[in-house]
Amino acid sequence: MSRFWTDKIASLDPYVPGEQPQDKQYIKLNTNESPYSPSEKSLQAMMDQVSERLRLYPDPNCQSLKNALATSYGLAPEQVFVGNGSDEVLALAFMGYFAAGKPLAFADITYSFYKVYAGLYGIKPKLIPLTDSFDIDVADYQDLDVSGVVITNPNAPTGKALPLADIERVLQANPDVVVLVDEAYVDFGAQSATQLVNQYPNLLVVQTLSKSRALAGIRVGYAFGHKDLIEGLERLKNSFNSYPIDRIALAGATAAVEDTEYLAEICEKTIATRETTVTALQSLGFEVIPSATNFVFVSHADKAAKDIYLALKYQGILVRYFGEKPRIGNHLRITIGTDEEMSALIAALKTL
Ligand code: PMP
Repeated sequence: MSRFWTDKIASLDPYVPGEQPQDKQYIKLNTNESPYSPSEKSLQAMMDQVSERLRLYPDPNCQSLKNALATSYGLAPEQVFVGNGSDEVLALAFMGYFAAGKPLAFADITYSFYKVYAGLYGIKPKLIPLTDSFDIDVADYQDLDVSGVVITNPNAPTGKALPLADIERVLQANPDVVVLVDEAYVDFGAQSATQLVNQYPNLLVVQTLSKSRALAGIRVGYAFGHKDLIEGLERLKNSFNSYPIDRIALAGATAAVEDTEYLAEICEKTIATRETTVTALQSLGFEVIPSATNFVFVSHADKAAKDIYLALKYQGILVRYFGEKPRIGNHLRITIGTDEEMSALIAALKTL
């Protein structure tokens, strides 16, 4: 607390990211990073940028990356926005499209940063409870009097995916507000709404290179939407920071998006490891929610989540425990690592 803080600063309730411990090497299964290396082509493209040319500003428009994304997803470059991680894309979208006086609808259990952005921009959340089985029931997203809707698909931390038909129902029921679909984990087994972008001018799809493309370290996220929605985001971005993507990140991200083969390869590996992990966890008595992501959300009838979290940490394995929260206080979110890491996890759990 400082006497220079405004009431605004004092009122904030900032997001707390999962631990990034610097003390020792953990098996890190707590922040949904990829256990695999980024694409070799992406690494090479970044190394090529480490030169005297770093004295120059990067392309403020990130055209090479927009072109690669547009080609890869069958859209026009004007339908693509890029930002410094999808967190920044979300921050700008919330600022631009949801701070319109009415509440913003999203699930009670979802990515906890949404509440933080809402707090920052003075947006009132309208929390829509997941069902008892942790599902989004899209019937709850009709007849809303809101400034916008955010759907996370697949949802986090539950890992559950909605079919595209359900996303369409939400879009059709809310034609006068922006419906933002956060697809941070979509490549691990859900249907993407990008194919609906040309049909629904109120749709904004947000994705990231942090998960399926193994590039959390360079902070690149992006959005697809109607060109006017994208232009709105550009206006905001250029009123705040013209160069959020540096030269190295821009080159690495462009090469990563072009390397679709490698994307498919590491997603397949993660999905295969997820399925063997689910079976192993179930055989240890865990209840595992079916996951379409690179993590699983689990609970155990006989052992408290907090105790498991602490015991695993002691053994050098980090998983995500969300604290004593309603509904999810006895759950753990476990990122899918390599086969070896998951075997170490299962071995450690057996000793508990
Ligand atoms: N959306 C969801 C649902 C997430 O879980 C995350 C990762 N914490 C993000 C967005 C942000 O990812 P990034 O900023 O790394 O793109």
